[in-house]
Amino acid sequence: MSDKLMSYEKATERFDPVLGLEVHVELGTKTKMFDAAPNAFGGEPNTYITPVSLGLPGCLPVVNKRAVEYAIRIGLALNCQIAEYCRFARKNYFYPDLTKAFQTSQYDEPICYDGWLDVELEDGTVYRVEIERAHMEEDAGKNTHIGGEDGRIQGADHSLVDYNRAGVPLVEIVTKPITGTGDRAPEVAAAYVRTLRDIFRAIGVSEARMERGNVRADVNVSLRDNPEDPMGTRTETKNVNSFRGIEKTVRYEMRRQAAILAEGGKIVQETRHYHAADGTTSSGREKSDAEDYRYFPEPDLVPVAPSREWVEEIRKSLPELPAVRRKRLQGVWGFTDIEMRDIVNAGAVDLIEETVSAGTDAGGARKWWMGEIARLAKGEEKDLEEMAITPAQVAELQHLVEDGKINDKLAKQVIAGVLAGEGNPGEVVKARGLEVVSDTGALETAVKQAIADNPDVVAKIKGGKMAAIGALMGPIMKATRGQADAGTVKSLIMKELGL
Ligand code: ADP
Ligand code: MG
Repeated sequence: MSDKLMSYEKATERFDPVLGLEVHVELGTKTKMFDAAPNAFGGEPNTYITPVSLGLPGCLPVVNKRAVEYAIRIGLALNCQIAEYCRFARKNYFYPDLTKAFQTSQYDEPICYDGWLDVELEDGTVYRVEIERAHMEEDAGKNTHIGGEDGRIQGADHSLVDYNRAGVPLVEIVTKPITGTGDRAPEVAAAYVRTLRDIFRAIGVSEARMERGNVRADVNVSLRDNPEDPMGTRTETKNVNSFRGIEKTVRYEMRRQAAILAEGGKIVQETRHYHAADGTTSSGREKSDAEDYRYFPEPDLVPVAPSREWVEEIRKSLPELPAVRRKRLQGVWGFTDIEMRDIVNAGAVDLIEETVSAGTDAGGARKWWMGEIARLAKGEEKDLEEMAITPAQVAELQHLVEDGKINDKLAKQVIAGVLAGEGNPGEVVKARGLEVVSDTGALETAVKQAIADNPDVVAKIKGGKMAAIGALMGPIMKATRGQADAGTVKSLIMKELGL
């Protein structure tokens, strides 16, 4: 069934969107949230388990202190208050990947609450997202449905369950309703989750790999006629695990809901699924209200009461956060706001920093990463960090240029060679014979030829138009297959013309 959609422009003209994001992050602890089973990805199914991960009768959970520390790190990085006392709660529901028939979570006593995060959009606009809470919980196992269409349970003939993920520590971060974004709602949603991802990595609580589902977002969207109106009915699209997916979900839901509302219809409060293949969402189940889960405090776990000393110790141990680091690096490197924003958007901050540590200046590092390498990456639809060239190699390349061994044009061939696996820049230069022609004999011949072939240009130069020298460079470079050093060529021309 295909949904009726309003154009995005019309939808944003007529309606005011409200968003709510619930982001789950898997913590990178060694063991699980409540037992000593390994917390690791990719093991043989049902090998990283203990009776506690399986929720067998009679076993007792114990809280992982490191997971609590990581939750506090996240809360502090998000400018939250840290509870002096909080408890876990049982969220009761049945699903085959949840053997206990309840998820151990937190309900009305989250460990972190009342925070905010500044999110910078691609054009530099900063939007502040208010954070309601960040609480601890455990992940469920993973169902795999066999025999149906694209892994859905509908039409499957049997299902398999892997409990390796059961009990993996999670922190769920819930925003307050995000208002006032207007037509930038999809962008704000994606940028918010990207900013969170960068923070998780920077503070060392998770590898935060989206493609592994380490970070997943539930995306709530509603529309209303005017910003002054009460919020409309929302839908919640579950487990979106890419930035593009988050952006598309918001966009699609805005267009879909706008079409329904414009015809006087009502939005059904429900969970929905996102389909990466075509960027659409489809109906899941009607949303349960909190009371259906029959939350109650977990009797098998002691409350968590982090001492203020511990919280302050954690605060002091936090590294520089990404936004602060970017500002600092921009100052050190001397880049303009626009240059720095392009670098951030290209995911090149770390690469340039490492290239600079390998001994080049920032301008030289930026030139290659944001120039030729970025151009090639774009052609291959890859991220910069996926390109098979390292910061150390880029630094070596830049040194070869600075030493006059190669020019910028040859450097591009060197980059191609490195990417093709031909070795480090120095090796590529040797193997491909790319060193600039410094043999003045061959150069002189080329210079003389160019002068003889272009009497009109020579006349201009002699008449004082030095810029005309450029017109002689082309044929000389061609004759030396681009391997001549521009400075040397220029001085040879001057010498030859007696200037
Ligand atoms: P649930 O448990 O049903 O998922 P939560 O309150 O945990 O509900 O989270 C819902 C998310 O959606 C929060 O981020 C909240 O701010 C947001 N939200 C609440 N009401 C609306 C609404 N009408 N439209 C958009 N977002 C909303
Ligand atoms: Mg929720």
